[in-house]
Amino acid sequence: MPTKSRRVLALAVSLAVVLSLSACRTEQTPLASGPGATTGATPPATTTTAPASLPPSTYAATSVPSLSPPATPATPSTAPFNFSRVLLADSSSLSPAVESLDRSSGKVVVNGGDTRRPTVPFTFQWGDGQTTHAFFPAAHTYADTGRNYAVMVTAHYADGSTDSRQLDVFFVTAATQPIVLPEGVRVTVPSSPVALASRMPGYSPPARLTAFDDARLDAATRAAVEYVLTAAASVQKDFANNDVYEVDGAFRQVVLLDPEFGGMYSLWFTSPVSFGASATSFSGTPQYSSFFHEMGHNVTLNSPASYYYGGKIDGSANAIFSEAMAQIFQHATAYELINNRQQYGLSDDVVSGIKESGLSSMRIVVSSYQAYVSGGKRFASWNDPSTPQDETFGTFMTIAYKFCEHAEKGASGYRMPLKRTMALLQTFDEDTRSRYDQSHNTEAAATFRATLMAAALSYGFETDLRSELRDLGFPINDTVYDELHRKAAARPLT
Ligand SMILES: [Zn+2]
Repeated sequence: MPTKSRRVLALAVSLAVVLSLSACRTEQTPLASGPGATTGATPPATTTTAPASLPPSTYAATSVPSLSPPATPATPSTAPFNFSRVLLADSSSLSPAVESLDRSSGKVVVNGGDTRRPTVPFTFQWGDGQTTHAFFPAAHTYADTGRNYAVMVTAHYADGSTDSRQLDVFFVTAATQPIVLPEGVRVTVPSSPVALASRMPGYSPPARLTAFDDARLDAATRAAVEYVLTAAASVQKDFANNDVYEVDGAFRQVVLLDPEFGGMYSLWFTSPVSFGASATSFSGTPQYSSFFHEMGHNVTLNSPASYYYGGKIDGSANAIFSEAMAQIFQHATAYELINNRQQYGLSDDVVSGIKESGLSSMRIVVSSYQAYVSGGKRFASWNDPSTPQDETFGTFMTIAYKFCEHAEKGASGYRMPLKRTMALLQTFDEDTRSRYDQSHNTEAAATFRATLMAAALSYGFETDLRSELRDLGFPINDTVYDELHRKAAARPLT
């Protein structure tokens, strides 16, 4: 893999793009053709036109066309959602998902995998009385598309044990009932190209970015994903205590198509703030969890507004802050949207999509944390450019895991702990920056970075997590920890 050398090569020119890519491999974003390769792009000379803000009425589109009079959905659950099963119990090796669904023929394809690689076919109970046995992918055609189904997929292992996962198949759902969201957090998926201006000297977005035209996204889907992403943006801006850099009084984001890239990345430094996304980002179920992750970069790297992290921590030491926080924002956003589905008027199929993508990315957090522990708890905040692997991966995933674990175990959920975590991180200033010391691999800098994150999580949960993180190999300085807590306590939450 030429990834590391490419990353290093590109650091000087397009650092920000590369940094957000480099550690976003949890999103399976290959680096080989990443935008870091695009180095000669000239930033537009003038400020770009921000996307026209959409009047609330534009959001009155349905997320899924209703066929017939909606039947009572068979599957949707209104029980409180959490990640506990994945986080705190043994994680399942079975990961089925609805790959395609044809509303006119009734044909549904379920694809997936099982890392335990059972040799006996899986059992598919399709929810219409039919049961089949097959390996992935498995197809089934429903005679009645006037209702929804709960599909149960069961794996059979050599030791006689089994594991089951349920999937929702939605033929009919009540449409999303959009509410009016704050004007200042609009996310759009423009149907024609938008010029991006760079706010950072030396950072430029790839010149090849273009719009998702109607062929890639039908009108109903465009309005629906814009609504969900705008709802996510209002959730995330609140997580950040509304302390986010704004252009013309708003935090606008646009999603642009990168035709040469297989994943998704954050362009936090552009105006409007933007995402580069692959052509398949909206195929089938939109990749909500990846969007929430990249949006987490967009928000946290543009915070605090008066001295934002973006550009000031970039390079080999960025990930302990930027990737840990993107992971935390990603899952906290899913949690908030799912549990406030009624308040946001989200349809069952949208909720199901957010849930599935959130659960599967949470499984990656859990397995990465487990690998960090079994690998000897090697704390690292410096991604050595001369090695092929990212030494910081296990460390930032461990921070994300610890946050989610405490959110799930505690009574306070994700929102308040995250707002408090951000409040501490938002004390960032010139002094913090110099001690974070983005360009040097020193013990002092590593200790400061570890202490910053330990202090932030401890402040977030109002619980001293130092011993827990020290047990995980984090070097923490008590004097700095206390100092950071005093600084945070002087900041009101908003
Ligand atoms: Zn990332």
